[in-house]
Amino acid sequence: MTVLALGTQLTRQVGPLANHDGRVLMIEAREFARRHPYHPHKLTLVFSAMRHFRDALVADGYEVSYRQAETFGDAFESHFDDRPDDELVVMRPASHGGGDRLRTLATEAGGSLRVVENETFLCSPATFDEWAGDAERLRHESFYRFMRRETDYLVDDGEPVGGEWNCDEQNRETPSADYEPPAPPTFEPDETTRAVGEWVADEFAGGYDEQPYGGDWADPEPFRWPVTRDQALEALDAFVATRLPTFGPYQDAMVEDEWAMNHSLLSAALNLGLLTPAEVVERVLAAYHDRSVPLNSVEGFVRQVIGWREFVRHVYRRTMPELARANQLDESEPLPTFYWTGETDMACLSDVIDGVRARGYSHHIERLMILANFALIYGVEPAQLNRWFHAAYVDAYHWVTTPNVVEMGLFGAGAFATKPYASSANYVDKMSDYCSGCPYAKTKTTGENACPFNALYWDFLDRNEAQLRANHRMGLMYHQLDNKDEGERTAISERAAGIRNRAESGRL
Ligand code: FAD
Repeated sequence: MTVLALGTQLTRQVGPLANHDGRVLMIEAREFARRHPYHPHKLTLVFSAMRHFRDALVADGYEVSYRQAETFGDAFESHFDDRPDDELVVMRPASHGGGDRLRTLATEAGGSLRVVENETFLCSPATFDEWAGDAERLRHESFYRFMRRETDYLVDDGEPVGGEWNCDEQNRETPSADYEPPAPPTFEPDETTRAVGEWVADEFAGGYDEQPYGGDWADPEPFRWPVTRDQALEALDAFVATRLPTFGPYQDAMVEDEWAMNHSLLSAALNLGLLTPAEVVERVLAAYHDRSVPLNSVEGFVRQVIGWREFVRHVYRRTMPELARANQLDESEPLPTFYWTGETDMACLSDVIDGVRARGYSHHIERLMILANFALIYGVEPAQLNRWFHAAYVDAYHWVTTPNVVEMGLFGAGAFATKPYASSANYVDKMSDYCSGCPYAKTKTTGENACPFNALYWDFLDRNEAQLRANHRMGLMYHQLDNKDEGERTAISERAAGIRNRAESGRL
């Protein structure tokens, strides 16, 4: 028996490698890396983490067969040529149909492959399905409370520690102008990572940097992400020691040039398997008990990991393949080019996209309330934004972008979102410092320099009225729209059309 260790399953803490010290197969499939125009840091991260994992296994006496091939099928053929009677064992990949595809390829290569449960998540499919029952729409808050009781994290006699399940009310502060968040650690590329980076630049040139209209690529910053378990643990320790105490209050805040704020930056390591969700949460809980880190920060973080991360994984599992194509608002605009280039005068979008180009990362509220919100009210076809997120972020995989982008960001299916996260410049201004330095006027809806978020917001409500007016959570918004007279509504619709023209010609 040989354990197939996929690039997103680089763990010996859980799964088949937790109690196996024999043969391991790892596959670098180039075709996989060409499916999307991936950010060079994403490819460098995955391949470097795989090579480091291989080296650590070899150092500990494992027999590792590390195959570089065009496809998984090619690598399986070589493997089963060398070991005709072998059986491969793999944890079920989180991507839709991944386990079945691997099994078919192994069978076609003349071998066999057994798919076992994916233990890089906390909640098993059976447990989630039992919790969900036959509910039509799944509710995150209820799942999260279920998970708190299941794991016993922050629970005392079945009740939430501190009396409330959710401390969100305390977690919507914005920092003062002179606030400087503690700097996150940077992991200097070693020889392996440098070699991978150079190979990625040669082999996958013409990817992210040239999408979709060619040229003009500013070099990303030097690569900085953890590529080994030791580095990932160091990143976790640094987060817990310095940024966790203020994670909660500033969770939703956006500050120009402060790309990390107090976020953990652990998603990429978690999604590769370098860290397990349980150990991350337990480290945070230890800080709560040992150092009295405030409960609102601890609870806010625990909710993201045992709640949202597990929830979206299972929503994806249960709603694919439909979720990837979902478009209940029937939107069809192409993704504006500036999502790739960062070339827009809008201060918020330009700063966030520049950060994504530099590092393949932006924090949650920038993803949701700047990038996805703009695409939502602009009317971008959900699959196009999903492809962009998948290509641009170091932590992106289909299982996690699809529910976050198509459903949470663009209200594509109504699988768990109860209303669209649509907002005007008001929200951006309240939660960030972008508007004061922006050439667009946050208080204007129409006219030359009016902030595009405003006209697009009202236009979004107007054009989707048939679908959204009956939603009781949208009542106030439609009441405000009703207060606009015919002339105002026409001017808004003309301004929205003008914004789309300018975006298409790269002049927004
Ligand atoms: P923190 O703010 O420190 O949060 C801690 C951890 O909670 C994260 O590391 C992550 O593992 C987990 N988490 C929090 N929210 C979510 C969520 N909604 N879904 C899944 N996990 C969550 N997350 C990804 O891992 N990959 C993606 O490609 C991705 N794309 C997104 C796209 C959109 C439009 C939105 C709205 C969210 C997306 N997320 C994605 C979720 C979330 O934004 C990121 O997990 C988070 O920003 C990663 O940064 P962090 O590690 O500093 O997170």
